Amino acid sequence: MGLNRREFVKLCSGTVAGLGISQVFNPKVIQAMEEGAKKAPVIWLQGQGCTGCSVSLLNSVHPKIKDVLLKVISLEYHPTVMASEGDMALEHMYEVAEKFQGKFFLLIEGAIPTKADGRYCVVGEKDGHEITMKDLALELGKKSLATVAVGTCAAYGGIPAGEGNLTGATGVKDFFAANGLADKLVVNVPGCPPHPDWMIGTLLAAWQYALGKGPLPELDSDGRPTLFFGENIHENCPFLDKFDNDELADTFMDKDKCRYQIGCKGPNAYADCYKRRWNGGVNWCIENAVCIGCVEPGFPDDMSPFYEEG
Ligand code: SF4
Ligand code: SF4
Repeated sequence: MGLNRREFVKLCSGTVAGLGISQVFNPKVIQAMEEGAKKAPVIWLQGQGCTGCSVSLLNSVHPKIKDVLLKVISLEYHPTVMASEGDMALEHMYEVAEKFQGKFFLLIEGAIPTKADGRYCVVGEKDGHEITMKDLALELGKKSLATVAVGTCAAYGGIPAGEGNLTGATGVKDFFAANGLADKLVVNVPGCPPHPDWMIGTLLAAWQYALGKGPLPELDSDGRPTLFFGENIHENCPFLDKFDNDELADTFMDKDKCRYQIGCKGPNAYADCYKRRWNGGVNWCIENAVCIGCVEPGFPDDMSPFYEEG
């Protein structure tokens, strides 16, 4: 038996106390993931990125990372964390894509470079020829059930697509649209990096869907699940009354005042960080610094400079 919708929503929209790392090991969650993974496995590709999204995912499950990778998440291919490499790993990936054609989920981390015929990002070799991220993403994207763009690089281009973008870096949805895959379902899970719950929660929702036990997650106009990205940071911020009363911090030492003047982009950012919090629920950006709007399509250029009002 998997999670029913009520249990799933409770899991994903819980407050600090209701959703911690340990929730990943809730037996019902594990069962839903195991069932889902068998029926709709996951292939994870990495393009132009810093691997921070993978690190964020792995941090979510410390210290039982072995269990999660081998039993719970059942990633069939992940360039950074898989034990195998080279031909053996690639063959397995192609086999999974073939065997589960139209049924597996493709997770893409990092942007896709389109210039120089994609040679800015070579992700493997087959029959003596380079495999570019551009070609592999297209090949697997076509065969997948749906694609999840993990992190702001994959969702909207992110840092690789920032000012001075020499490689033609682009987000997955735009890349698919420019290459005949406009109809493919792409779910964006932005963030630099995304919160582990956002990634795992989206996968859970996707698996519920694949198992016929739940609807597709509702997406906003930027392709993000509204479950995690449906609320404005500023409108829910504990410093909102300070903002309304013009009590604005001049320096980071003013810990009890609103951070707008020192660069907070919360008014233009939509995510549930304020209630989910980070690092296992210990803190979140606005507590010690400012929101830099990393979940938004214009990040980083539209949010820069980070520490100036704007
Ligand atoms: S979205 Fe951010 S954390 Fe993820 S790969 Fe890109 S730069 Fe790294
Ligand atoms: S700290 Fe940022 S999000 Fe919070 S009230 Fe001030 S501007 Fe808004």
